[in-house]
Amino acid sequence: MTKDADRRRGPVRMCVRCDRITTEPVLVSEVHSASGPGFNVYACIGCAPLFPRPPDALDLLATGLRDRGEDEH
Ligand SMILES: [Zn+2]
Repeated sequence: MTKDADRRRGPVRMCVRCDRITTEPVLVSEVHSASGPGFNVYACIGCAPLFPRPPDALDLLATGLRDRGEDEH
């Protein structure tokens, strides 16, 4: 017999706030890196509501562009 419970294990992540392992991670932030792959930040169900909304990727991108290309007229 196969153990269905083993196969059905969902994603397991560590909560960024309380450092507990959770099987129901909630994505609270996406970190984008220009020099490498970005990573996602997860919180457990209990902590997730305490986080502000994830920053808009476009906002981060715009900030980066503004830093790089100052164009004063
Ligand atoms: Zn937590």
